[in-house]
Formats: sequence, C-alpha cells, structure tokens
Amino acid sequence: VVSLTNVHKRFGAVKVLNGVSFEVGRGEVAAVIGQSGSGKSTALRCINALERIEEGTIEVCGHAVHDPKLDRRALRRDVGIVFQSYNLFPHLTAEQNIMLAPMCVKSLSKADARTLAQDVLARVGLAEKADHYPEQLSGGQQQRVAIARSLAMQPKLMLFDEVTSALDPQLTGEVLKVMEDLARGGMTMILVTHEMSFARKVATKVVYMHRGTVWETGPGAMLDDPQTPELRKFVGGEM
Ligand code: ATP
Ligand code: MG
Repeated sequence: VVSLTNVHKRFGAVKVLNGVSFEVGRGEVAAVIGQSGSGKSTALRCINALERIEEGTIEVCGHAVHDPKLDRRALRRDVGIVFQSYNLFPHLTAEQNIMLAPMCVKSLSKADARTLAQDVLARVGLAEKADHYPEQLSGGQQQRVAIARSLAMQPKLMLFDEVTSALDPQLTGEVLKVMEDLARGGMTMILVTHEMSFARKVATKVVYMHRGTVWETGPGAMLDDPQTPELRKFVGGEM
C-alpha cells in the first residue's frame, strides 16, 4: 500500500531525509520511532504530499506521490492524517466537526453525514458526546473526535503523528485503545510514537529512524533485541 524508496528531503542546507526506504503492506501497522529531529514527522508529511521531495519515489495506495502531476485531492481521499493538536473547529459540535468533510468533499446529504458521524463516534466510544463542543471535551476525547473525523472519510491508510504526546497517561490510554481497535479491524496505519509498549504490542513493523535514515527495521519484537548500538541506546532511554 505504501512504499518509500531512497527518499531525500532537505530544508535549505539541512538534509532531513537522507535516502529513506520502507514499505507498509495492507493491514499492517508500522510504528516509526526515533530521536527528536530524526525526520519522523517529515517522512509522514512526505507520504501525504505535505512536503515535496527532491529525490526518490513514494507510492501510496496507487498514487505516485513524487510525481509533480500528483492529484492531491485523490490522494487525500485515501489517506487520513491526525496530528498531536486536534484542530477541531471550536464553534462546531463533535458531530458537526465530523459531518463537514463528508458533506463538502463527498457531497453527502446532511442526514447521511449525521448517520455516518454517529457511526464513527460510536467506533471511538463517544456516541453520547455528539452534541458537545470541543471545549466541553477532555483532550483525549477531542483527539478521539479528530480520529473519528478522519475515519468518516473512509481512508485506506491512516497516519498518526504523536497523537498522544499532549495527553496525560489516562487519556493516552483511551486514545491508544481506539488505535488498537482500528488496527485489529484491519486498518493500514503508520504512526509516529514514543509509546514503546504500544509499538511492541500493536505494530507489525517498527521503523527506527536515525539522522534521516532508516537505521533498523523489523517486527515489534526487535525492540527487545536491538541490532545496533543506536537503537539499544534509544530503547534504553525511552523505557
Ligand atoms: P520530533 O520527535 O521532535 O517530532 P521528528 O523526528 O519528527 O522530531 P522532524 O520534525 O521530521 O523530526 O524534523 C527533522 C529536522 O528537520 C529537524 O532538524 C527540524 O528542525 C527540521 N525541519 C522540520 N521541518 C522544517 C521546516 N519546515 N523548515 C526547516 N527545517 C525543518
Ligand atoms: Mg515529529
């Protein structure tokens, strides 16, 4: 579903991605880990065409993302992305936040969009919060609404960039639970995370990035047996 090959990206003089390659198959859950500044968010943003790359190829759900003629709208219909900040509209209820894109982008009727919103809110355990405004919800609940809003577009791939790092441990648990359910439901996911136990338990593949390259990659169990001193040190520091 997703394939990065020898991807290079620089910001001015700073080389941020230096030949990044990895693949994620249908139904896989890839956890991208690594030190601050190693290029994790940039890699994720390149996958969704939020950044242009200078060299290499990126294929996502049949779209050639590196191609200057890429149809971004078509790509973004297939790919959902959730960030650390939830970016909900404060003047709209949870349900209205979710209904917006399906009505505007997919031309759903108001009634159909409402049904859909109720369905995805139930999937993230917030069926009874449909009429709440963001400020009436906890951080974890707001993040689950943001996830539900992405799910309403029925993406083939979901990207998550440190979606729990602004949350306290209990709220983090609620959001991770939603993501774990999604994974079990067969959603293809790539997530940047500092939650090592989640990566070990849920990820089918761990991608350890170091200085703009994929330093080590393997199944979740590789975290128990790092092959490089860099990953050993990183895992030691995170746990
Ligand atoms: P963190 O764990 O702190 O989120 P990260 O692995 O996600 O780190 P990136 O955000 O991908 O790291 O950043 C990688 C490098 O690229 C950093 O040195 C950062 O300063 C630089 N960088 C990222 N975005 C930009 C930008 N828009 N302009 C210039 N430099 C940038
Ligand atoms: Mg980041």
